[in-house]
Amino acid sequence: LPRWKVAMIGSGAFASSVAQMITYNVAKKATFNNRVDMYVYDEPFGDTTLSKAINTMHENPKFLPGVKFGENLVANPDLQDTVKDADLLVFCAPHQFLKNMCQQIQTVVKPTAKAISLTKGIHISPTDGPQLLSTMIRRMLQIECCVMMGANLANEIRPGGFCESTIGSHSTEDGEIFKELLETDYFSIRIISDTEGAELAGALKNVVAIASGFCDGCDLGENCKAAILRQGLEEMRELSKRLYPTVRDETFWESCGVADLIATCYGGRNHLVSQEYAKRAGKDSFEQLEKELLNGQKLQGVLTSSEVQAVLQTKGWQKSFPLFVAVDAIVRGLFHPKDIVRYRTVAAEAE
Ligand code: 13P
Repeated sequence: LPRWKVAMIGSGAFASSVAQMITYNVAKKATFNNRVDMYVYDEPFGDTTLSKAINTMHENPKFLPGVKFGENLVANPDLQDTVKDADLLVFCAPHQFLKNMCQQIQTVVKPTAKAISLTKGIHISPTDGPQLLSTMIRRMLQIECCVMMGANLANEIRPGGFCESTIGSHSTEDGEIFKELLETDYFSIRIISDTEGAELAGALKNVVAIASGFCDGCDLGENCKAAILRQGLEEMRELSKRLYPTVRDETFWESCGVADLIATCYGGRNHLVSQEYAKRAGKDSFEQLEKELLNGQKLQGVLTSSEVQAVLQTKGWQKSFPLFVAVDAIVRGLFHPKDIVRYRTVAAEAE
């Protein structure tokens, strides 16, 4: 049996909760090498560095304090060194950093390695236009890449709890390997073949989460928020299908679809920050609020919103996606957050 060696790329809150499951699984399954390397973007932490603190405490004291990894996890501040022996690469870093990371490891990744992306976002290539992150990883590293997306708020994933997630994989065999690596009795995974649908659902729901924060920050009520979520889900599905005609409706019933949308629109960071943006009536920028509220974590929805706009503009599709257009116009300060209630007219006026 092969003993797959695992490398984790990223060390934020979600990466840390996933590392907890991976270290537990590799320690008890013969299929995997016992040691897991985790790339940590290093920074000072107290009188030491974050990577050293992780290695002595066996937890991530900055991003997920109190959640213990197995002692078989090694935090490594050197990205190339982290991935060079790995058979399985788990990408879980904010999407704005992914391209640069792939560039750095292009020459050292094993040609036989397999990847999974847990990162939610879209990459806009200057030459090829919108690109899935899994496609970017596949092309830049010349290896296979599947995705895992789901209703997985990092600080709730722990023994005794329960959540579900979706692996989207073109290859059933690869999907099964990553399911074996990532599934626990409190983290249940289903595999689907619609990789593109799963990934786009995970990315686009962050834009809807911004709209949901506007609803709550302006006290627009549950009926309004439900209406926004419904429209958001519809636009997520429609845009995904226009970009990739193979995308299936059923994908949006999986954890990566409606469940992730609900979790993020009620309890996620995108919702938290946009709610505060709305409460302060746009006086503080998203950038300031990200710094103030997220303790060094990165917001994905605002950047994804502008990436979605780039896609809609290039394709001339604005009229079919009034919620996405309105969210972006509000984020850019052209309208008040409470105007989300009349997103259709906002979208028409913004054009
Ligand atoms: P946030 O980045 O908004 O916290 O999203 C969380 C998430 O994707 C849960 O699945």
